[in-house]
Order: sequence, then C-alpha cells, then structure tokens
Amino acid sequence: MSDKNIKGLINTVESFGSVDGPGVRYIVFLQGCQMRCKYCHNPETWALEGGKSMTAEEVFKQAYRYRNYWKSNGGITVSGGEALLQIDFVIELFRLAKEKGVHTTLDTSGNPFTTEEPFFSKFNELMEVTDLFMLDIKHIDNDKHKELTGCVNSNILQMAKYLSDNNKAMWIRHVLVPGYTDDEESLRRLSEFVKTLKTVERFEVLPYHTLGIVKYEEMGIKYRLSDVKPPSKEEIERANNILCTAEYTGYLK
Ligand code: SF4
Repeated sequence: MSDKNIKGLINTVESFGSVDGPGVRYIVFLQGCQMRCKYCHNPETWALEGGKSMTAEEVFKQAYRYRNYWKSNGGITVSGGEALLQIDFVIELFRLAKEKGVHTTLDTSGNPFTTEEPFFSKFNELMEVTDLFMLDIKHIDNDKHKELTGCVNSNILQMAKYLSDNNKAMWIRHVLVPGYTDDEESLRRLSEFVKTLKTVERFEVLPYHTLGIVKYEEMGIKYRLSDVKPPSKEEIERANNILCTAEYTGYLK
C-alpha cells in the first residue's frame, strides 16, 4: 500500500555523488546495518536507531531540487548502512521517484534478503521501482564471509540469482582486502559465480582503504584490520584480471 508519509531514519545525504550509480546522483544513506564487516568505513551507520527521521515525500522533495544536475542518467541512490532494513521507506521513496521518471539505484549488501514473508513480497514490490541494484559480494566462501562480516552469504548469493532471473540490472562490487578477500581460489570462484548471472552491467573491484579508522577511534570501537594496508596497483590489477571485470562493459555511459 502506498504511503508517502512513511518515515525513514536517514544517517546522511550527499547531493552530488558520482560513484554510487550512473551519472550525478543524490545519495541517501540510511541508518542501520546488521553486518559487521571488518573493513566497514561507516560504523556510525550500524545502530538501528538514531539518524534523522524524515518521510519519503520529504526526502524525495529535497532530492528532486537537484534534478537539473542529473541529466539523462543520474538520479537517486539509496545506500547505508543497509537500506533493505528500511524496505517500506525505500519502496515509497522510489515509487515517488518513478512517478517523476527519476532513475533509482539501490546500493545494498543483500544481508536482509529472504524469500520468507512478509519481506519477499516487499522485495518484489521494490524490484518494480528500482532501476539498478548495486550489490556488494564481500566473500564468495561462506565461512570466510562469516569471519569477515559476522553473517552468512547464502541469502546474498540467492538474491543475486533472483535479480538475474527477474532481469534486473546489477552492478557487482567486491572490496579487495589484502589477506582477507584476495586469495586466488576465492577470486576465481567469485568470477565463476558472477558469470552465471545474466544481468551484470558492471563488475568492479573496490580497493580497501583506511579512511574510516578515525571514526572507530571517535566511537571507541576497536578497529580489527589495523595491520592491513590498502592493496597496491599491481594487486588491484591482478584481482581485476582474475575476476575478468573488463568483460562487463554494459555500462559505458
Ligand atoms: S554491510 Fe556495509 S554498512 Fe554494513 S558493516 Fe558492512 S560495510 Fe558496513
């Protein structure tokens, strides 16, 4: 049921994002995440409370003021935290966007995905108003995924397959963390998995970085990868080669 007064908890917004989806985008970072990725650079989004409470209509109106910058391929991206935890809000925000012909992108880890109700029906509704899904696959190996994020990956891979089966455009992203996500066998398995998906327009390696460490200090949380350095250019190139990321050229805009 449509309800533009439904509220979301917003951590922050970015008016001119350029990496979270095609073109120039208004990015809404939602509050709340149940994963605990060791490399997360947004620990301030973890709590399922806090943030600014706003209705879908309020957020849409704010975003829509920037429409002249979006040109033909920009639009609105919802990210997090984990946006699927506030799926009702995202459905409504994207519904308002689609009424005005605005391109919608969801940046997600897939962690809340389940084929159980009531989530599954909502997810189907969400697919109808989402033009592009950006899905992070953090590790292809379930045990290593658990070790890295605290959660299993089976439902995340299931979500990727479901999006593909339903012909939904996807960008897949993989954070390259030396010693954690870059062993050859795992990269090869990830590459094989992504090749089974039919709708991947872009597949990219995101090099691990340490910009979030200061937030951990401020929040008094122990940072668990303090001995890990960002990957070198050569390491990034090696991963791109194993993952065959250059083969995914659907996105050329
Ligand atoms: S899924 Fe994203 S927000 Fe959640 S812990 Fe991992 S990196 Fe952080």
